Amino acid sequence: MEGAVRDGCVRAVWESSFMETNTPSAEAENIVRLAARTILTPDVGECLVCYVDRQLRAFGCDGTHRFAQQYREASAPRSTALVKRLARVGACCCDCEIFLNACEPAFALWTEDRWVDDPEQGEVFVESQPPAVMPACAGVPRGAVDPCRNWARAAKW
Ligand SMILES: [Zn+2]
Ligand SMILES: [Zn+2]
Repeated sequence: MEGAVRDGCVRAVWESSFMETNTPSAEAENIVRLAARTILTPDVGECLVCYVDRQLRAFGCDGTHRFAQQYREASAPRSTALVKRLARVGACCCDCEIFLNACEPAFALWTEDRWVDDPEQGEVFVESQPPAVMPACAGVPRGAVDPCRNWARAAKW
């Protein structure tokens, strides 16, 4: 009798876990598919640089221009020379070089140089820092591959 009760419990547990692995996995697949679409599509009016910055923060650089290419395909299909153009301003090999060589957050977004009172060292000079997180894209016309005003260019694009 005791054994029968235990068997019943085991089966109920097994059945519920079976059902659980069915439904949520289909759901998870939908979420992944939806996320992939959301992640890879630039927002309306979002500029190339904000888009690439956002993707690099989420996924990192894989040594290619995959996000710049993705941006071009989705938002600026006529800019067939985009990668060449990026190479000319210093991003010859991959997306993250845009931020190493071609542009940086606009000066207005950096923190100010300041003196901070440190209990041990007294007055400490803190240099201006780029923003840890960029504000939302300031927007560019559709089809443009220029950075929005949140970015300062190191070279003419
Ligand atoms: Zn890179
Ligand atoms: Zn932008």
